[in-house]
Amino acid sequence: MTNEELLERYPFLKTDEEDKTWLDHMWDGWRKLFGIQLCEDLKEAIAEENIQDFKISTLKEKFGKLRLICHGGNGKDKIWEIKTAYEYISSRTCIECGKFPVHMYDSDGYICPHCKEHKPKYARIRDNSPAVDELKWTVECLGEKNDYYIDLRPYYEKLGIR
Ligand SMILES: [Zn+2]
Repeated sequence: MTNEELLERYPFLKTDEEDKTWLDHMWDGWRKLFGIQLCEDLKEAIAEENIQDFKISTLKEKFGKLRLICHGGNGKDKIWEIKTAYEYISSRTCIECGKFPVHMYDSDGYICPHCKEHKPKYARIRDNSPAVDELKWTVECLGEKNDYYIDLRPYYEKLGIR
């Protein structure tokens, strides 16, 4: 899809920069794995919950995770769930190629998820990296570590992750 087509389908992707969308602010690997699906999920939630004037005000990477800040959807459960789900998924998606699941690496304090092929030469796996071979673990982990539960399986399914 061209940026023009993206903005027509997902008006909330509009930035202050001409001819750009918030997806241009996303790491290539993340965009490849879930960029469009994230937009589709947001679009669906906006319609379902009848949210007016929804827009993204920030989309960036922070501590190796997707950080999405929106206006118009604050406090709406579905938008919150989508943001939290993709924050988690992003933390296990290689920022270069979109491979999933991968470890989080620490490269002189710069923390990012990479596959083995794309990790910086001297980067180290962070101790709290998840067990990458057990997708189910992530679902349980998210519920255990925090006081809420999001079933990530529908998200994995939509992304073709088995
Ligand atoms: Zn990679």
